[in-house]
Amino acid sequence: MKADILITDTLLLPDPGSKTLIRDACVAIGANRITYAGPMTGCAEIEAEKVIDGHGRLAMPGLVNLHGHAPMTLFRGLADDLELTDWLNNHIFPAEARAVNPEMAYWCSSLAAAEMIASGTTLAADGYFHEHDVARAFEDAGLRAVAAQGIIDFPAPGVPDPGKNIEAAAAFIKTRQLHDSLVRPALFAHSPYTCSNTTLQRAKQLANATGVQLYIHVAETEHEYSLINEPLGPSPIKHLQGLGILDENTICVHCVWTDQEDLQIIAGQGSPVVLCPQSHLKLASGMADLPRMLEMGIRVGLGTDGCASNNSLDMFREMDICAKIQKLHRLDPVAVPATEVLKLATVNGAAISGFPGLTATLAPGSPADLILIDLQQPHLQPFYNGDLLVYAASGADVRTVIIDGRIVMEEGKLLTIDLDEVLQQVRSLATA
Ligand SMILES: [Zn+2]
Repeated sequence: MKADILITDTLLLPDPGSKTLIRDACVAIGANRITYAGPMTGCAEIEAEKVIDGHGRLAMPGLVNLHGHAPMTLFRGLADDLELTDWLNNHIFPAEARAVNPEMAYWCSSLAAAEMIASGTTLAADGYFHEHDVARAFEDAGLRAVAAQGIIDFPAPGVPDPGKNIEAAAAFIKTRQLHDSLVRPALFAHSPYTCSNTTLQRAKQLANATGVQLYIHVAETEHEYSLINEPLGPSPIKHLQGLGILDENTICVHCVWTDQEDLQIIAGQGSPVVLCPQSHLKLASGMADLPRMLEMGIRVGLGTDGCASNNSLDMFREMDICAKIQKLHRLDPVAVPATEVLKLATVNGAAISGFPGLTATLAPGSPADLILIDLQQPHLQPFYNGDLLVYAASGADVRTVIIDGRIVMEEGKLLTIDLDEVLQQVRSLATA
């Protein structure tokens, strides 16, 4: 039997939703899919063009970052320790008006792609402006991604007339749907407090008409809750429900300020939720009721958010924080176990992303999105089970990354991105 890539003599975590590890394992990849993942005895007959020695490594599915704003890498560390409204209105929106253009979106998204790939993310969902250029950067990097064009009722980068925001988004979807690539288009309505009812409904109509997902920030802060609650209705989630835009293709990012009725609406509509625990901590947004969401069968994934509000795109940090803050908040060490968090950042994220057949498991037939982690380090020994990935590993432990059967990073070297050039371009944009 022939394979394109064969990873030998490795420790294998084929399904992050379970604790099962296979020692002395191998993984074969052919035509961008897993063809074998199991004990070494099963790959004796496999010949491969490329053999990777997996000794001392853990092979596992890549991580899924379900929410970010890639061009905002330019604003990393620009304005920290501020309240959300002050941060947005007095720092981020003015910086965006000054700095965001297609070239900036491309280079800063290339930086985001480099950071994400290097830290083990194989699929990212992005929402911003100039998403053509974000998508181009992701394509060049070989990153699997959802690129969602931003919609907001203010003048925005690339969309100076907010009256044309839906039109611009429609043009983006139309163009991107002609591309056969790892980057799928979607829509990103900024929030219920920056988009009018009409805009939100038109965005959802466009999403339905074109068969794409609609991402939206919702129920992020107490301030948003009061903005929506006073003039419009009982809560941001009920507001969206009243507008008829919640369903399984509307992805609700944040959902911190939700009560039992809100969660019942989300569960009933089948809308996925994306939590960004570090962003919630840094902006002091509040604590999402993750245990309740999971009990109610709500599909939950994890995201880093833009790195201006995090300030890292490392999903290992996100998982660690996610598990620990839930335990602290409830004074319950049993709340949200590490295996559950690992599942949110892999299996759940893949399912929510809407990529056909993507499972974030290493089973024959699955798309070959996987990472190799260096276990030969003091902080990762002994390695009893995958919980250590949540509580001790970091993105810096990722050595090799394969996306859609293509090696995009090997032994710490990015193969699809000229990192020196990206760093130089972003540094010059940062000083402009
Ligand atoms: Zn966000």
